Amino acid sequence: MKYDIPESLKRRLGIKEEPHCLYCSAAPDTTEHVLPAAFGYFKNAPMLQDRLCPDCNNKRLGLLDQQLARCGMEGFFRRYYGILGRKDHDPVNPFVRGSAGGKRIEATTFDKEHGREVAIEIGSDGQGSQLCALTLIEEESGKHHHIPLHPVMTADQLRYAFNQCKAIQPIKMALAFHPQELEWIKPLVHEVWPTVTFPSEGTPFGNVIERPLLKFQVTDRYHRAFAKIGFHYFLSQFPRFNGTEPMFDDIRQFILEDSDDTQNRASDFIVQREMPLLTPAAMGLRPPDGWRAHVLAAEIRPDCCIAHVQMFLTCDWDSPIRTIILARPQSFGSHQAAGHLFLYHRDDTEDGFSGEATSLSVMTV
Ligand SMILES: [Zn+2]
Repeated sequence: MKYDIPESLKRRLGIKEEPHCLYCSAAPDTTEHVLPAAFGYFKNAPMLQDRLCPDCNNKRLGLLDQQLARCGMEGFFRRYYGILGRKDHDPVNPFVRGSAGGKRIEATTFDKEHGREVAIEIGSDGQGSQLCALTLIEEESGKHHHIPLHPVMTADQLRYAFNQCKAIQPIKMALAFHPQELEWIKPLVHEVWPTVTFPSEGTPFGNVIERPLLKFQVTDRYHRAFAKIGFHYFLSQFPRFNGTEPMFDDIRQFILEDSDDTQNRASDFIVQREMPLLTPAAMGLRPPDGWRAHVLAAEIRPDCCIAHVQMFLTCDWDSPIRTIILARPQSFGSHQAAGHLFLYHRDDTEDGFSGEATSLSVMTV
């Protein structure tokens, strides 16, 4: 049987433990961005110092960040606002392929000119445009299946994607591409369907995009990413907790372990908060026009420890607020709270940062 010796007793007995990673027994020697770097670098951003080993930080938990940054609504906004994160370059187009178990973002609209639904993407310039894609249209039901095409795609991959659609015959096929893409599309498509003929021009897509429909398909990694951000933010603000205390066992296990039971497990730890976390005017903040930000907050309440995560709060969108239950129930004494606003710079600021993080005065509601 294994007993946890209380911290106070360890100190009295002079027992010193080697520090270890929050999630494994390796040495913790990384500086972790509490708000994942994929969302940009913020001046004065809170960091979590020496609590994670490189493997957990970059590989195991890095998968959570990858899915969050590319597969959900946050991935869409990241693209829309041109936030590319690390090294200012993200080689993955989230409209073409999924990441870390999450699916690609499916964005479609109705093209009046061609009388059919088309797949679209948001370019790194934030503009919507036609996605180079093969579309299968079921003649009976009218259902559309879009298969994104890309220059490094192989014939096997195209065949696989075609079979995965499970389109019900008879089907019509339509190709959407820009003329310059024909160079690699022709051989790719001919390898799979040798008799297909191509029009001399692509299907130009000059229409205004109206009411695009977005579809996100995520796994539990997406939800766990929010739990991780909330937990690590809490630890960065309340350093008297080192995060390995038994009361955090459940949240650490949830963050670390993959599971098939996506929704149920997540709802044990994450609830949506209806009350606004931040009202800029009420707080005396005057964000510039077109502002966009993330808000992280953490609280020690008399009977629990919680964190709040709100991403891409903008001047015209109250994005969802997730409250993460980190530890309960226990007696924590007085109420303490901390919060940070991560406000993006306007486009014309050039200080090497995407924005600046500011500590907020307390929120206790
Ligand atoms: Zn580790």
